[in-house]
Amino acid sequence: MIRSQFPALSQTLAFLDSAATTQKPLCVIEAMNEFYKTHYSSVKRGAYSLSAKTTQKFEDARAKIAKFIDAQNENTIVFTRGTTESINLVAHTNIAHGDEVLLSVLEHHANIVPWQIAGAKIKVIPCDDNGDLQISELPNLLSAKTKIVALTHTANSIGTINPLQEIIPAIRKLAPQAKILIDAAQGAPHSKISVKELDCDFLAFSAHKIYGPTGVGILYGKNEILETMPPWQGGGEMIDKVSFEGTSFALPPARFEAGTPPIAEVLGFSAAIDWVNETGMSNILAHERQITAYALDELQKVEGLQVVGKPRDRGSIISFSLGKIHPHDVALILDEDSIAVRAGHHCAQPTMERFKVPATLRASFAAYTEPWEIDKLCKSLVRASDIFVY
Ligand SMILES: *Cc1c(COP(=O)(O)O)cnc(C)c1O
Repeated sequence: MIRSQFPALSQTLAFLDSAATTQKPLCVIEAMNEFYKTHYSSVKRGAYSLSAKTTQKFEDARAKIAKFIDAQNENTIVFTRGTTESINLVAHTNIAHGDEVLLSVLEHHANIVPWQIAGAKIKVIPCDDNGDLQISELPNLLSAKTKIVALTHTANSIGTINPLQEIIPAIRKLAPQAKILIDAAQGAPHSKISVKELDCDFLAFSAHKIYGPTGVGILYGKNEILETMPPWQGGGEMIDKVSFEGTSFALPPARFEAGTPPIAEVLGFSAAIDWVNETGMSNILAHERQITAYALDELQKVEGLQVVGKPRDRGSIISFSLGKIHPHDVALILDEDSIAVRAGHHCAQPTMERFKVPATLRASFAAYTEPWEIDKLCKSLVRASDIFVY
């Protein structure tokens, strides 16, 4: 039983908001508790054995995450606060005012705004009415001027899984100089990702969406690219030698990890990766595919319900609206019935605009989602329709 490993999940609340954040299994909570209770210390700062042990565990986590995404070695993994900070790091260190960046209409604000702040000139890959990216537009959008292409693995708003194994080689052919960043916030938690097979230059994801704690995530970057990047934030541990005349910087990943890192969170992240490995990513994927197919069938039986987007390949996310009832009104009724869904623009306003909706309801699933939660949702949606039809 997967669900029973998650102490915050009950048999009454239908938690259908895992795309916003996932619940935590007990082993993750305990790994963090144990650290604070029995062997708390900083990393890389003490000559004493306790700190050396913590440093070892911290670095083991880095190596484990490198292996998890099939990276060349652990030095490709930079610990950050999460996907948002990872993308900001790349934007800040790679983009000069006026540089061209290619995004898609399916991006989360975290993969739009950092590029704007860095002063990039932004181009956008459109999508069709199903919510599939129009890859045939790539020749018109890429050129020798394209500095970065930053794309989501899976759209958090409508669930599209992008065919990256098709898109990335096309980008390499049309704009070999462009660096490719993949926002895997919704990808890494749901399927096996190999940065080696994808051949992306950067990849980012957050621990809290893959059963780990908040406040930590990673940026993967190819060694040879990270090594050419200037530091971002300055402080402790990111230097080689400091004097008031000038400072030389440490090699990556230390160069990008200024200050005391979130140690307990990294250890919790590590426990979350163990949990996913032990549960089996292929089992998680198979379960989520099944629950998503069931939900799609059941939701479409609800009168007046429209699913937004019909992508060729869908992650465990379904966006929908219910007649003309405002999604926030529906969400209030669902909440009365102990159902947690997201209502809003899902930090993807350009996607909402593309589909000409101000907001949607979104149900999203994870390893612990059970069919009764879907049944409960559908029943409550019928109740919401009855209340608002007048
Ligand atoms: C959640 C999410 C982000 C941002 O992640 P944070 O953990 O908030 O930094 C970026 N992109 C996608 C696709 C997301 O779902």
